[in-house]
Amino acid sequence: MKWLNRLAALVFGLISIGIVKNFLDKYEVVVFNKEDSDEIEEDGESKDIIHLGPENYDNAMDIRGTPTQVCPCGCEVWNVKVIFNESQIASYFLDMECANCGSLATAPTPIDRGMEI
Ligand SMILES: [Zn+2]
Repeated sequence: MKWLNRLAALVFGLISIGIVKNFLDKYEVVVFNKEDSDEIEEDGESKDIIHLGPENYDNAMDIRGTPTQVCPCGCEVWNVKVIFNESQIASYFLDMECANCGSLATAPTPIDRGMEI
């Protein structure tokens, strides 16, 4: 009986090692700090700038008219179409979209400096 228990434990151990080896061959194990988890998307990939935008437009508003730098949602990042010349921004469209909520707003210009925006 003693040898039968040892043999069963050996078989169980070999099967367990095989399962773990098969699991590690099939999947990657990623370990990350929980404090940094907000930078990781659900699919495990870092958020790319191309995908920076609202998940839906449920809270989006159209506040175009008065130039602004900050969206009513508090976000200061905007999606703006620009034209480059000699590696500098030469021109940009005044319509812009909040990167967080998708609200449309009017981009400020140098003429708007000094005005309350
Ligand atoms: Zn916003």
